[in-house]
Amino acid sequence: CGITACVGDDDVVDTVLTGLKNLEYRGYDSAGIATLNGAGVRVHKREGGIDELVAEVDGVDLRGEFGVGHTRWSTHGAPTDENAHPHTDCTASVAVVHNGIIENYAELRGELSAAGHLFTSETDTEVIPHLIESELAAGKPPEAAFRAAVDRLEGSYAIAALIDGTEAIFATRQGSPLVLGVDDGRRFLASDVPSFIEFTSRVVYLHDGDVVRLTPGEHSITDVDGDPVSRPIDTVDWGS
Ligand code: GLU
Repeated sequence: CGITACVGDDDVVDTVLTGLKNLEYRGYDSAGIATLNGAGVRVHKREGGIDELVAEVDGVDLRGEFGVGHTRWSTHGAPTDENAHPHTDCTASVAVVHNGIIENYAELRGELSAAGHLFTSETDTEVIPHLIESELAAGKPPEAAFRAAVDRLEGSYAIAALIDGTEAIFATRQGSPLVLGVDDGRRFLASDVPSFIEFTSRVVYLHDGDVVRLTPGEHSITDVDGDPVSRPIDTVDWGS
């Protein structure tokens, strides 16, 4: 139901948790966070409220300059800890948050299972990190692997992904909202502006098919074919 993400040159855990808190108004049944730093991808997720997630990660070393968060409104699979996002691949080197529905997930899951991928949730979402993993294993660089995975999806989605060893967050949307926030040293992503309005009022409204690469202090946007697209940075004056 809600995505939030932040890339910075310092730890982003508190920012991502705040971004999640600011999306609570959308409704949800589970919440989770994943971070990436030199030591790999770390995930904490659970059924229940954000306050419970915050309490759970208190004292846990989640530090990372790349973070994604999710509030889930279940469509495929009950609201359980296992079905909460972020979802990972077999080796936990890819973490994905997703809003929407992957219509062809059953077919993709069958194909990936036959190729040896083990699934740990009942969600439609979990096919995404496994697709990325399989494209990486086939030798594609991270952004190409992300694109190739997205290319297989049918349905509606906003997606943000962390890939171990890659100092970036990759994201895209198709029929589900996703906006980009621009600050000097940081970049944000969210389903809606209130998630990050307390950090920045500079917003880029993404279009269906846009693929975004976020790095500290920088972003690039390309279309489905990989060609650069230019989207204006608007300044919004609400909520702050
Ligand atoms: N279809 C996904 C799930 O059930 C995402 C739901 C959402 O948008 O929160 O996990």
